Amino acid sequence: MEKYSWGHNRRFNSYPEYFKKIFGERIQKVSVNAGFSCPNRDGSVSIGGCIFCDNNAFNPSYCSNQKTIIQQIDEGILFHKIRYRRANKYLVYFQAFSNTYASIDILEKKYNEALNHPEVIGLIIGTRPDCVNIENLSLLKKISKKYFIAIEFGVESTNNKSLEIINRGHTFEQAVEAIELTAIHGLNTGGHFIFGLPEQTIDDMLESVKIISKLPLNTIKFHQLQILKNTKLFDLYENNEIKVKLFELDEYIDFIIKFTERLNPTFIIERFNAEVPPRYLQTKPWGELRLFEIQRMIEAEMEKRNTWQGKYFK
Ligand code: SF4
Repeated sequence: MEKYSWGHNRRFNSYPEYFKKIFGERIQKVSVNAGFSCPNRDGSVSIGGCIFCDNNAFNPSYCSNQKTIIQQIDEGILFHKIRYRRANKYLVYFQAFSNTYASIDILEKKYNEALNHPEVIGLIIGTRPDCVNIENLSLLKKISKKYFIAIEFGVESTNNKSLEIINRGHTFEQAVEAIELTAIHGLNTGGHFIFGLPEQTIDDMLESVKIISKLPLNTIKFHQLQILKNTKLFDLYENNEIKVKLFELDEYIDFIIKFTERLNPTFIIERFNAEVPPRYLQTKPWGELRLFEIQRMIEAEMEKRNTWQGKYFK
């Protein structure tokens, strides 16, 4: 089989391969909870937060803002070494809440605390589109002269009606502006999207790939909508007050392959779907299948269909 434009034989532009290419070896992400807040929760934008949000569900066990950043990194490295044993260099993932939402002094102190760890070679910073500005991006640009830096935005949808219903507190246009400003600063940009939000049919979601493909993104990750127990979305769904699309596994595999076939082939795909510990879910519609098992199924189906990322990208 031919090599694709991304230089390896996997049928999509894969995240681990991308890091192997730039660093020459396997790189592992280690999450930290640096104790930031979120303007969609603290009242600056809204109080309730996004209706699907329960940050605990995504936080690895070693992450807690009761521990120092260094302590979380050390425990995270140990956790990954026991499980995978293959990485010697780490990127610290500032994951919980909005990790550019503080004064410049606080941001600099927290980022430097992580970067001072001897095994850390860079940062991946998760945030909201309304939490970046010239000041904090300039700080990150300065840091990026020595370290790998990527800013990962929760965009979630291109549809403003969906964003309003989930109480996202920003529009798609704000996300575009933030991504463009970040790219202009020469920083790596990432985007996170959820499939299955209200007001979107499968055709609408497939259509959105054209808009998404035009963004100046380096990396992208996808997330099938899941309804976590401890959320407003759960209550609305239980009371039949909201209509969402909860994909069956086969249906999602078919959808995400069609989406990927139309996606810009320069985007590096970090993941196709999400997982949370089963205790956060009322039902387990996809059984107990793990993230990597579903990824294998998606790749096997791409192989069967003889298709690849960007096959129909225009
Ligand atoms: S998903 Fe992110 S932006 Fe939304 S409430 Fe949770 S932390 Fe805030």
